Amino acid sequence: MPDTTPTITARSGVLLVVCAPSGTGKTTLIQRLRDEFPNFAYSISCTTRAPRGHETDGKDYHFLSVEEFLRRREAGFFAEWANVHGNYYGTPLAPVLETLKAGQDVLFDIDVQGAAQLHLSLPRGQYVFLLPPSLSELERRLRGRGTDDEASIARRLSNAASEIRQAHWFDAWIVNDNLDKAYDELRAVYLASTLHPAHRPGLANTILEG
Ligand code: ADP
Ligand code: 5GP
Repeated sequence: MPDTTPTITARSGVLLVVCAPSGTGKTTLIQRLRDEFPNFAYSISCTTRAPRGHETDGKDYHFLSVEEFLRRREAGFFAEWANVHGNYYGTPLAPVLETLKAGQDVLFDIDVQGAAQLHLSLPRGQYVFLLPPSLSELERRLRGRGTDDEASIARRLSNAASEIRQAHWFDAWIVNDNLDKAYDELRAVYLASTLHPAHRPGLANTILEG
C-alpha cells in the first residue's frame, strides 16, 4: 500500500486577520489576544498618517511620507495597501512571508479593503470580521472613546455600513456585544486554525512511529 503520510517537515505559521468597522472594539480584542499569546508576531504596517502621542516608529507603525509610501508601493513592497480615512496604509510583504515560513503565527490589524487584497494572495488564513451589535451602539462607542470629532464620527459610521455590506466573504463573523464572549469566540477561531495539518508537521509520523 502506498505511504500517504504527508511529508511536511516545517510548520508554517497561522495568518490571522482581524477587521472591524472603526469603534467596534478591534484594538481592545487584539490587545487581549496579544496578551494571552505573546508569541504572536504582529504585522507592523506602514502609514502616512502622523504618529499619535504614545506611538513609536517601528513598533506601532513605520511612519512614512506620502512620497516614500508611493515609491515603495510602485516597487511592489506591499502585500496589500489601502487609503483609510484619508491616509495610506500598507503591509510590508517580505517580513510576513519570512515570519510565516519560520513557523510563527502572524496577526494583522488591517481594514476591509486591505483584507480582501491579502485574501487574494494569501487565501490560507483566518479572516475574521468583528461586528458591533448595532449602529447605534457603534456610535455610542465612538463617542465614548472621545478621540474623534463629529465629522470623523459621521464618516466612520457611514464607512461602517458599507464595510458590513462587504463582509460576506470572511471566514468568521464575531459580534462584539459582550466583550468576554467576543474574546472567547476570537480565541476559539485562532486555536481552531492552529489545528490544521499544515501547522502540525511531523504529528502523523510521530504517532505512526510511536
Ligand atoms: P476599534 O479598535 O475597533 O476602533 P476600540 O477597541 O478602540 O475600537 O473600542 C472602541 C470603544 O469601545 C473603546 O472605548 C472600548 O473600550 C469600547 N468597547 C470595546 N468593546 C466593547 C464592548 N464589548 N462593550 C462596550 N464597550 C466596548
Ligand atoms: P489607525 O490609524 O486608527 O491606527 O488605523 C485606521 C485603520 O487602518 C484601521 O482600520 C486599521 O485596521 C487600518 N490599517 C492599519 N494598518 C493597515 C494596513 O497595513 N493595511 C490596511 N489595508 N489597513 C490598515
